[in-house]
Amino acid sequence: MANEKFYITNAIPYVNAKPHIGHALEFVQSDSLARYYRAKGDDVFYVCGADENSLKNVQAAEKEGISTQALCDRNATAFSDLAKAYDVSFDHFQRATSPEHFKSSQELWGLCEKNGDIYKKKYKGLYCVGCELFYTADELNEKKECFEHPGKPLDEVEEENYFFKLSHYQEHLEKILTSDEYKIVPEHRKNEALGFIKQGLQDFSISRSKARAHGWGVPVPSDDSQIMYVWFDALNIYRSGAPAKWWPADLHHIGKGIIRFHAIYWPAILLSAKIELPKELLVHGYITVGGQKMSKSLGNVVDPMELVKKYGVDAVRYYLLREIPTDGDGDWSEEKFRVRYNADLANGIGNFTSRVLTLAKKAASPFPKGSTPEAGGILTAISKMKSEVATHVSDRKLHEALASIWTLLSFGDRYINSEKPWEMETGCDKQKDVLENCLAILDAAARELAPFLPSTSAAILARPTAPLFPRL
Ligand SMILES: [Zn+2]
Repeated sequence: MANEKFYITNAIPYVNAKPHIGHALEFVQSDSLARYYRAKGDDVFYVCGADENSLKNVQAAEKEGISTQALCDRNATAFSDLAKAYDVSFDHFQRATSPEHFKSSQELWGLCEKNGDIYKKKYKGLYCVGCELFYTADELNEKKECFEHPGKPLDEVEEENYFFKLSHYQEHLEKILTSDEYKIVPEHRKNEALGFIKQGLQDFSISRSKARAHGWGVPVPSDDSQIMYVWFDALNIYRSGAPAKWWPADLHHIGKGIIRFHAIYWPAILLSAKIELPKELLVHGYITVGGQKMSKSLGNVVDPMELVKKYGVDAVRYYLLREIPTDGDGDWSEEKFRVRYNADLANGIGNFTSRVLTLAKKAASPFPKGSTPEAGGILTAISKMKSEVATHVSDRKLHEALASIWTLLSFGDRYINSEKPWEMETGCDKQKDVLENCLAILDAAARELAPFLPSTSAAILARPTAPLFPRL
């Protein structure tokens, strides 16, 4: 049987500021999925990227008194450094300032134009630079601000722009989302997108004047006076970032703040251009810090690079993957982190590994081959764990997949505590059988753990002598 293709993408963060812990969350979730399918034998391609053609970047650069390009270079590097620090196994990091991205985006524009979905019109509206989005009055809070950026007044903008005939795709979009032809996970996010469609889709502006864009961005082909709306080209990073053979994407992975672009604008643009649709959209939530929204003014922004330096990459990966539900919001606090760490890593997997390996070394391996670890339902427990992990990964519930691995580890703890191999004569056949069973549990857990905690998995399989996770 031929290998299946799995093309996965991260969201395309604005690079107007340094990455925060929410970006680390997205990276480790996507990376675990990419690694899982790779280990399964699929052909995987994993793209991360940076959305650079945003007005936010222009404004951030002006504030710092540097060029927009310099700001993008610096911050795009910070994002790819973050990915590396978290052991994120991306195949390509696509920048929206690259020439191939410009060319691909202009071609996409040309296809939509050829199909009659782009027209020019005078427009007046309320624009949030933070979101790079026009809002209607009923989409704003009582202070007439956007929900994502409270405290920031909207710009009133009036100019002649190109528009995309989104209204034309209303029924078609409703059909592809309802039927899961383009599947949105979790279900409540799918309903949110459908709710938005049912309100009635308005054509949206896909360009702005060169002056308002400060000349920054992808020029509209055949009209020098206009620059593409940043989301028109940003979404196309998913196409320009991978060789054509990978398209369509099997999974776009994004945060809940940008669902409208991915669930509605993007498939509509692709339908217009007659390009195959992506298959699935996975939407993760946000991380609060100590129960509060992360913000510069509260001074509670968590630097994900510092966390890795302090605790090690797998400990932080574990917290993000286990404590934050893949499909919902979660919270970070140092205190919760220490509780999780000590219970699950230092005591749980760390303690089991060290008990089993210390006794196994004394008992003089190699063990007699061929003794089937069936005593006490060990094989059953292992295969149950494996099938649960497979189900949870395909349901995009990585936190549940980890819980299943830890259920097996607890089973291993109970088994070793009831058999008490340390009370047996060192190296006797009975002791070797018990330890062989423990090793089977440990190795099965380590192999399934590989996509989530790659270094820990490799360390266990390499039979460490030093403790994996010293107590905090
Ligand atoms: Zn906003």
